[in-house]
Amino acid sequence: MTDFSNFTAPGINNLHPYVPGKPIEELERELGLSGTIKLASNENPLGPSPLGRKAAAESIAGINLYPDDSGYRLKAKLAAKYGLAPEQLVLGAGSSDVIDMVARTFLSPGGNAVFSRYGFAMYPIYTTAAGAQCRVADALPAEHKDMPYGHDLEAMAALVDEGTRVVFVANPNNPTGTWLEAGVLRTFLQDLPEEVIVVLDEAYTEYVTEPDFPNGVAWLAEFPNLLVTRTFSKIYGLAGLRIGYGMANAALIDLIGRVRHPFNVNTPALAAAEAALDDETFLQRSRNTNTAGLVQLASGFSSMGLSWIPSIGNFITVNVQRDGTQVYQQLLKKGVIVRPVANYDLPEHVRVTVGTEMENQRFLDALQEVLEA
Ligand code: PMP
Repeated sequence: MTDFSNFTAPGINNLHPYVPGKPIEELERELGLSGTIKLASNENPLGPSPLGRKAAAESIAGINLYPDDSGYRLKAKLAAKYGLAPEQLVLGAGSSDVIDMVARTFLSPGGNAVFSRYGFAMYPIYTTAAGAQCRVADALPAEHKDMPYGHDLEAMAALVDEGTRVVFVANPNNPTGTWLEAGVLRTFLQDLPEEVIVVLDEAYTEYVTEPDFPNGVAWLAEFPNLLVTRTFSKIYGLAGLRIGYGMANAALIDLIGRVRHPFNVNTPALAAAEAALDDETFLQRSRNTNTAGLVQLASGFSSMGLSWIPSIGNFITVNVQRDGTQVYQQLLKKGVIVRPVANYDLPEHVRVTVGTEMENQRFLDALQEVLEA
């Protein structure tokens, strides 16, 4: 038979597909369990935004028609919220869709993208799929006193060369939960060549309570090469609908929009996102639940003698001092789904999403049993 791998586009044969968190239904089917909890994909444990959910349900009556390809109403609302023009926005089927559009617009064989070790897993995938080279900067060391495993912006800047088209910065980063302060990030942006696109991935920004945490949107006027991505998958609780967005200067958005798939964002997603933007009560409740959950998990780890990477996202990555994939598998048998992170070069860690107080406790109890067994 023909070996089709001899005929693929550049990059495809080196591609390792993204491994998502295990779905609850799949685990229950495989192990005959019920009452499983999933703390594996940084989803909102409180469910969808109630306003978003209602709007999505109401929009179903119109799904015989294609969605509004321009995303007119949602863009108008986002533009007003951030003080931007609607032309400065691109909508995606999740923010990962936007990141992919950037890669397909600017990356090709001969070019490269720079990102950090332990950076979000989609960066190497989209870079490789576009046939470009991944230039992976060393992260701050595990012993670093402030930001172990964090992005090392100096190391990243040192990898930028004339072939660099895109730099990916996740703030905070997944799976480490580490972050960059406004001052250092701004200096980094100032020092980069102005033709290098910086994707500032702010998927978790709405959870952050740190005072020195930057808001990338405020820098868009100053840096025409900056593109900020955000999502409705996390705090808004709409991961299943797939909707996110990118913000940049209008000329950059125009280029990226050329590779956008027509109708990439569906009707219920558009309706839900628009409504969820107003759901202040839900957002506040989600943020509070998360802040309390981070403390609960850290204190549970501490009483088990485990260290963890200090996180400001809706997840924590904990060092389990043994094979993390095995711990993950033992937790599965107890009906608790977390995320092994060996694929991130962290073989003795697992990442847990912050759940409700009860879910966090169930995870901590299960982890203790696994570690004692
Ligand atoms: N960026 C980061 C850092 C993420 O962790 C995720 C989701 N895991 C995304 C982007 C993409 O999320 P979505 O496509 O659902 O917006």
